[in-house]
Amino acid sequence: MNFLFGEKEERLRSEIREFVKENMPPDYIGNMFVEEESDEGWDFAMSMARKMAQKKWLVMSWPEEYGGMGASTWERVVLAEEAAYWGIPGLSMGISGTAWVGPTLMISGTKDQQDRFLPPIAAGEPDGVWCTGYSEPDAGSDLASLQTRAVRDGNEYIINGQKVWTSCAHLARWMWLICRTNSDAKKKHQGLSIFMVDMRSEGLTVNPLRNLVGGHVFNEVFFKDVRVPAENLVGRENEGWHQLMTALGFERGIAISFTASVRRKFDALVEYVKDAGLMSRPRVRAQLADLAVDIETARLLAYEPVCLAEEGIMNVHAASRDKANIDHLHEKLARVGTEILGAYSQLDYLHKDSKWTKLGGTFEHLYYYNVGMAIAAGTTYVQKNIVGQFGLQLPRSY
Ligand SMILES: Cc1cc2nc3c(=O)[nH]c(=O)nc-3n(C[C@H](O)[C@H](O)[C@H](O)COP(=O)(O)OP(=O)(O)OC[C@H]3O[C@@H](n4cnc5c(N)ncnc54)[C@H](O)[C@@H]3O)c2cc1C
Repeated sequence: MNFLFGEKEERLRSEIREFVKENMPPDYIGNMFVEEESDEGWDFAMSMARKMAQKKWLVMSWPEEYGGMGASTWERVVLAEEAAYWGIPGLSMGISGTAWVGPTLMISGTKDQQDRFLPPIAAGEPDGVWCTGYSEPDAGSDLASLQTRAVRDGNEYIINGQKVWTSCAHLARWMWLICRTNSDAKKKHQGLSIFMVDMRSEGLTVNPLRNLVGGHVFNEVFFKDVRVPAENLVGRENEGWHQLMTALGFERGIAISFTASVRRKFDALVEYVKDAGLMSRPRVRAQLADLAVDIETARLLAYEPVCLAEEGIMNVHAASRDKANIDHLHEKLARVGTEILGAYSQLDYLHKDSKWTKLGGTFEHLYYYNVGMAIAAGTTYVQKNIVGQFGLQLPRSY
């Protein structure tokens, strides 16, 4: 099957490619979290976010009144593909805001909340950078076990507890936080609520957690009597699970962009293999052909829920299916890439601008980071549980 995009979408694609040529360093390959890990990288991401915002691309499918351009679904697909393929960092910047806080607020937020919180996200401003406070030391896959509490006190809530693995908490102005508001609810997911918390609040502390290659993206966040105005509650008290599921649906819908970013790395690998004269090796050819099949399959699968949604049909397990599929694809691409490049794949032990490091160390980077990517937004096993339950209607065994 060959997907042909319309004239409007192809025009947008060309415009984005022009934008990339004008604004991005040549041969830039986007790697997850690279910009968030240094001041220089973060400044670059923020400047790209502002440029994207000026073109109304940062949140192009949002209504114009909130800084979008009311783009069609397929225009949004083209932007997601192109931005991920070329690694435009602005879109991943403060991804919580553009990808799930904003869209969920448009469904569940009050008009006041929408007027206040959506414009800074759409404009790529520092005040529009969000982080997400879900996981806790004893609540990850089983998120409904979370213990951080919010207690109503007049026009405010007082929050106590701890979050962990909070990506970009040190860079964010706001947190999208889930916590317990009713400890006596019959089922543990029934007493939860979502709040929007100012990261500058008194009593809120952010501690860095270094990842396995020494980078700083994760944090642990402590709340000691943090006061949040009641107007920052999203939806109704104790009905936060509903908002959470909506937001997670947006978060897991990354198949289009993740497949495009995998495709870029694969294309760079194929070019390297040709230039280095490695195409004569049957094993290398077989590995690349195998990956090409997987990548094309992932791409077509990623289009499927979009096509169905256009027909008004929801495929509830598709995002989990595609996330699990891409987790495996990342792992395979990292393994094949590091094997083909060998010592030249290294990022950490040689300087990344060294003449010996090929393709900017992308494959070693992927090798390390795919471990985390297969955990973020729900582990591969958890995604497979969802496919089992909703896709195959198997009984829930956990
Ligand atoms: C890159 C990255 C970014 C992240 N960013 C954020 C963030 O911004 N905000 C935030 O709140 N959290 C964030 N997290 C945390 C992430 O959401 C959790 O790590 C994840 O949900 C898993 O929870 P856990 O670490 O407690 O592992 P656990 O839930 O303890 O899981 C441990 C193991 O048990 C398996 N397992 C658990 N339950 C089941 C089950 N029912 N069936 C089968 N297997 C099961 C899991 O697959 C895993 O292998 C991030 C994590 C990563 C890696």
